[in-house]
Amino acid sequence: MIPVSEPLTNTPAWQQQLANAFHTARDLLAYLELEALWRPELEQAARDFPVKVTRHFADLMRKRDPNDPLLRQVLPHLSECEAKAGYETDPTGDRAAEVGDGILCKYHGRALVVTTPSCAIHCRYCFRRHYGYPDNGTGELRWRAVADRLRQLPDISEVILSGGDPLALNNSRLASLVNKITTVPHVERLRIHSRLPVVLPERLEDNLVSLLSNNRLACVLVLHVNHPAELSTSLFRALGPLRKAGITLLNQAVLLQGVNDSLETQIELNKKLFEFGILPYYLHILDKVSGAARFEIGEKNIKQLYQEMAACLPGYLLPRLVKERPGAAAKEPVG
Ligand code: SF4
Repeated sequence: MIPVSEPLTNTPAWQQQLANAFHTARDLLAYLELEALWRPELEQAARDFPVKVTRHFADLMRKRDPNDPLLRQVLPHLSECEAKAGYETDPTGDRAAEVGDGILCKYHGRALVVTTPSCAIHCRYCFRRHYGYPDNGTGELRWRAVADRLRQLPDISEVILSGGDPLALNNSRLASLVNKITTVPHVERLRIHSRLPVVLPERLEDNLVSLLSNNRLACVLVLHVNHPAELSTSLFRALGPLRKAGITLLNQAVLLQGVNDSLETQIELNKKLFEFGILPYYLHILDKVSGAARFEIGEKNIKQLYQEMAACLPGYLLPRLVKERPGAAAKEPVG
């Protein structure tokens, strides 16, 4: 959970909203007027990876629609308790890439900091849903250790803040981390991977924008939007100051069965991202994490969909279709 030391009434609006998130399938389904879908087994399926959905994200779903593509991403399913061949707890080889202090080094020149286990939403397909987050903390001592470790890695020119979700950290913790990173002379770029603005646009407060833009690092925010319905008017408004501040906005999506596996949805998603000032970056093939098998799409269908996307979209709106293979030197292009 996000550490909140002050009373709730003094906390920013986004943290209060986070406290109001749905934490059970029963409450979420009742809110969507889908009570009939609830079964006790759903709570059992979510035991190891609890339900968490912000009200904003729930409000983007269609009421009374059991097949809503946003609901599908967050509603637990009985199949999550079944073992499935080829599916594992660490499909991207995160454990093997750990170098200490919550830093992963997979690719040349880049280091990824696992900042916090917290997220504002729990996506059922998440490749880190079983990751054993070490209890490294999110205070000064930890960030000093991160900076010291980065100093010992002279090839690193880009630091990626990941998690969990790095924007689940409050601004003072985040500022402290960013300040420490700026003291490492060979780091030039700061990249933030976050889904939080999509599910809670209020997170993009003015002081967050100045925190990210008033330092010597070139800043890139990589959002995670899977479906055009996630691109809300409030997100568009909240992104305005980031666009003005010259922060590069990119998107990575995961190709998910029943969510965004149609040509129509992909075209709408990538065009709408552009209207929001966000460039499509990656379209990930599902990482085979235990519990997520229902999101898998056959390779033949994936390739056909991508060919059709390439035929319909200008090159700059076509995300790179990639697959992550543990131990590989880069993400592998597909199709
Ligand atoms: S890390 Fe990203 S994909 Fe995983 S649960 Fe959190 S927001 Fe969802």
